[in-house]
Amino acid sequence: MHDILPETTPAWQALEQTLRTLAQGYGYEEIRVPLLERTELFVRTIGEVTDIIEKEMYTFEDLSGDSLSLRPEGTAGCVRACIENGLLHNQTRRLWYLGPMFRHERPQKGRYRQFHQWGVEAYGYNGPDIDAELILLSARLWRMLGIDGIVRLQINSLGTTESRARYRAALVEYLSAHHDRLDEDSRRRLHTNPLRILDSKNPELRDLLVTVPALGDYLDDESGDHFTGLRALLDAAGLAYEVNSRLVRGLDYYEKTVFEWVTDRLGAQGTVCAGGRYDRLIEQLGGRATPAAGFALGIERLLALLEDSAAPVVTPSPHVYLIAVGATAERAAPGFAEVLRDELPDLRLCVNCGGGNFKNQFRRADKSGAKVALILGDDELVNGVVGMKFLRDERAQEVVPRGELARRLRAAVL
Ligand code: ATP
Ligand code: MG
Repeated sequence: MHDILPETTPAWQALEQTLRTLAQGYGYEEIRVPLLERTELFVRTIGEVTDIIEKEMYTFEDLSGDSLSLRPEGTAGCVRACIENGLLHNQTRRLWYLGPMFRHERPQKGRYRQFHQWGVEAYGYNGPDIDAELILLSARLWRMLGIDGIVRLQINSLGTTESRARYRAALVEYLSAHHDRLDEDSRRRLHTNPLRILDSKNPELRDLLVTVPALGDYLDDESGDHFTGLRALLDAAGLAYEVNSRLVRGLDYYEKTVFEWVTDRLGAQGTVCAGGRYDRLIEQLGGRATPAAGFALGIERLLALLEDSAAPVVTPSPHVYLIAVGATAERAAPGFAEVLRDELPDLRLCVNCGGGNFKNQFRRADKSGAKVALILGDDELVNGVVGMKFLRDERAQEVVPRGELARRLRAAVL
């Protein structure tokens, strides 16, 4: 779990602002749900034999003896909130959320125990048009961030639960015939969650997986049509993609469409954004059957990618640093600054705190990065003026009447 320090928060804030603007541009509304949920919610939705449930959850009993877990992902809580608050009654919903998720993973680059996801979810839409919208929205984000050249889209269809069961049988048969070539993890998954073996990050399994039966050959008609429909929409929109028949997801609730945006720039943790369709989840949690699709993107991975390719974002320096020398001036300074802030709401004004002689304060003004130092002394106060010194050029200090100060500063720094 990481502290996000002041030198890094500007990049987070800029990204968050971009995400908000993007979501608004597509008619998605923000939802904020708790970080803690009943453990059962995650077990029922994500699936008992997934990595997340088997070994990654932070689970504890509260004082009433209820088992609670820190959320490992956002979809389950979002769906629960929508059902409980009646957001899905005879209506469609387009929602997004942003916040920390918790998984007890082995920490490494791009893989943390507290990380952040931006999730986008659409409820009540059956057709592939919404799948395409979600994908196009994510593609726009890469363009907004200037990283569209370094991420690639992979799509696949998992079919319905029934067709996947037929595929699963074929897969288990194939993998069982090559049991000696499976690693320990895959042997364990062979009878619990064999599809997840396709997603193995172990390079030694690669050869074995090349000749594995293809999921696409087992698709039912409905899923096949849905997938063809999605491909036609992406083609018509001119968005390039790759069909990866081994693409599966780590959460059990997906069916039909799945997709990932991947990059070669982040080593083994190359998936920046991942999602798909989960038409049964809402009903499974006690809501009326409602089709659903969504994705989540990993903010830390995205920021790592941006760090590589975009100009760093920094907190802007103050425009003005206010120096106050003398007992009367020091007492007047905070109120003086407040009036100036009323006059110039966009002004970034840093007021000297902690006293100090003129030389000390002037040094702090310079270090703050401000463009202008204002100097308030006891005499200036009496005379209704203020000293004004440009810190980044050689102009001599001036005396400005208080009544003209706002106009002068607006011209100089805003
Ligand atoms: P992976 O295969 O990398 O473990 P996953 O299938 O567990 O990913 P999802 O649960 O679909 O991933 O999460 C969506 C995105 O959230 C991922 O693509 C990734 O960008 C990010 N993510 C997931 N787990 C972590 C983590 N532990 N640390 C940082 N980012 C993560
Ligand atoms: Mg994972």
